[in-house]
Amino acid sequence: MTHDLNETQDPELRSWVESANEEGSDFPIQNLPYGVFRLRGSSQRARVGVAIGDQILDIDRCREQGALSSAAAEAAAACRQSSLNALMALGKEHWTALRAALSGLLAAGDHRHKATAAALVPMSEAEMQMPAQIGDYTDFYCSLHHATNVGSMFRPDNPLLPNYKHIPIGYHGRSSSIVPSGAPVRRPLGQTKADDAEAPSFGPSKLLDYEMEVGFFIGPGNDLGEAWAVEEAEERIFGFCLVNDWSARDIQKWEYQPLGPFLAKSFQTTVSPWVVTAEALAPFRVPAFERDEDDPQPLPHLESGDNRAHGGIDMTVEVHLQTEKMREDDVEAQRLSRGNFRDMYWTAAQMVSHHASNGCNLQPGDLMASGTVSGPEKDARGCLLELTWRGSEPIELPGGEVRRFLADGDEVTMRGSCEREGAARIGFGECRGVVGPAREP
Ligand code: CA
Repeated sequence: MTHDLNETQDPELRSWVESANEEGSDFPIQNLPYGVFRLRGSSQRARVGVAIGDQILDIDRCREQGALSSAAAEAAAACRQSSLNALMALGKEHWTALRAALSGLLAAGDHRHKATAAALVPMSEAEMQMPAQIGDYTDFYCSLHHATNVGSMFRPDNPLLPNYKHIPIGYHGRSSSIVPSGAPVRRPLGQTKADDAEAPSFGPSKLLDYEMEVGFFIGPGNDLGEAWAVEEAEERIFGFCLVNDWSARDIQKWEYQPLGPFLAKSFQTTVSPWVVTAEALAPFRVPAFERDEDDPQPLPHLESGDNRAHGGIDMTVEVHLQTEKMREDDVEAQRLSRGNFRDMYWTAAQMVSHHASNGCNLQPGDLMASGTVSGPEKDARGCLLELTWRGSEPIELPGGEVRRFLADGDEVTMRGSCEREGAARIGFGECRGVVGPAREP
């Protein structure tokens, strides 16, 4: 079960990598997220590593040293590529074995630590790549708060459509334009029509926004035609990351009916490079969203006792903004919002189960995103559209600037972390991007 604990999450564990033991580190020994890196400036192929403090452990080098055995060695052999897809495809037994072996190798007092240290690369010398080759990307819309806020701006009398509480709403996104944190973001061009304009026009989006989302990667896939119960779907989730679903609101408004988002979203999506495994998140499992008494219960194929009791994840997500002027003036980024992934109306397993329920085959490395994570409070709104209420309540920034939507030069940084009494705090690193000007047609 996803909430079962083992010795790898023991909060007392310490590592001989000292930086992993520092308070506030995103990557203590209890985390061990996977990513793909390349030495900065080198032409070496990208490699799979695990984050520990401010270092990256090169998994293939550990394997070559013979430090791993049986299932862990098999899992490490799957890491001899420039993506996590083969590791994701292996499934839970192998994931657990590799995590246990890596935890042992990095634990304080481990007798192999001199040899293992030779397989460390400082994060400061690495460039993070895409963690997986993403075949398909699906974006959901699973925050009731977000859907109600956005719905009430566009349809004040009828904010939630009748299907919302029965199915996790989603759409097929675009995988080719997903980039890792740090990659520059280009303001999109598109067709828009202002309310008072007679005809649409084409040009740079004027209402560029971000969306703070949580992503999750599929492990072993299903055969075409094979559906998954919620419990099965839960077991197939390899791990989680942060997603910025950059959104052009003016393009979206003109194009979204009748078939939903298209070019307003597909120009670019940014993901954080470290994938925090479902196993590392076990201590932070919480009950699924508590539905109102009047709400419909999910149909049986989207429901299980385990999902009700442990389907949620207590994970704080934050968005920070730093404008070009703030950077020049050395002014720190300002936090715009802080929400929690546990506030989603549907759990990750329900989204995956729903996705496969028609027999659509999901594949290792497929990425799902949750939809904008917004909470009930105003400062828990995960995009500018909601935070500024369509631009009618601008945000004031230090230095006197205001924002309704994003300006060129703005840097958006998302962070995520899990923290609770009796568990070690773990973090997700950053999902970052600076908006650059549109490319003129
Ligand atoms: Ca979205």
